[in-house]
Amino acid sequence: MIVATEVPCVGCGYNLQMQPVGAVCTECGLPVQQSLDQTILRWWSRRLKRMAIALRWAATLTIIMPLLLVAGVVLDDIILSEWLGTHAYSQWVGAGTFGTMGLCGALYVVAVFVATDAPRGQGRGVSRWLCRLGALCIPLALAVPTLSIILQELLHPTDWRLLEYMRFIMPLFMLGWVVHVERAAALSGWVLQRGGMKSRAGLGVWSLRLLAVSLLGLTVTFLAEELLIWLFLDDMAAWSQWEPIGKIIRLSMGGTALLAAISLIFVPIGAFKLANRLSELSRLAEVAEAGSWTREAPAGAAATP
Ligand SMILES: [Zn+2]
Repeated sequence: MIVATEVPCVGCGYNLQMQPVGAVCTECGLPVQQSLDQTILRWWSRRLKRMAIALRWAATLTIIMPLLLVAGVVLDDIILSEWLGTHAYSQWVGAGTFGTMGLCGALYVVAVFVATDAPRGQGRGVSRWLCRLGALCIPLALAVPTLSIILQELLHPTDWRLLEYMRFIMPLFMLGWVVHVERAAALSGWVLQRGGMKSRAGLGVWSLRLLAVSLLGLTVTFLAEELLIWLFLDDMAAWSQWEPIGKIIRLSMGGTALLAAISLIFVPIGAFKLANRLSELSRLAEVAEAGSWTREAPAGAAATP
């Protein structure tokens, strides 16, 4: 039996078409049968195409969400404050900004649910569910400021402690976001490896990892800063001793914020590249679906390779 259609070796990506099923890959030595058993082309073209579309959606929303934040800041700090000279609507602009970002986050989650879809029995079940739970944290993290402003207005218009408490919930949702981004990177890398495209998945996977690291850094430095404030708010003498540490924390917070901004440039590029690879795989799978994976070797093929 020989491989009838274009199947990339899961070890190195070499095209195994026409290779005997019992042989090993001439490039990396992996058994051909292993590539036939493990290839992601068995997920079928429709599923791979759906993943590619969902990744493109997720990447587009990753571009839109920071732009919404910038629009909110411009509306509040320049149009309302400078031109109209009022701060009366500031918190509602904030609520609206984070509200629409939360809505985009919800759309993003839908995209992620589709993108991380994998058939049962293909392994990585736990990671898939972690990824999905983590994705749910994204709209929650983005909606916390909006929710806290609305609750504040409804329940305690004069008592600002509620807003203080809500600030601590956001970093927890950020941790879910970190898990999601890391798992999405791991899953994309895994899928592309099984499609024989590991060497071409680099930028996409690493851009997602950079985002995960910078989100984790932001969460940790935010919590550290809040902890310092909480510990020394009433004790200024002790605070003066800890001041250098406070500076270090603020510097690292600025550093990770910069890292996050850089990763937000690379994530859409990387995700679009991953989506293009998946589209390529879906085209290969389409061809494979049309016929059988293997066929009898033509007589005499072994004698005249
Ligand atoms: Zn190989």
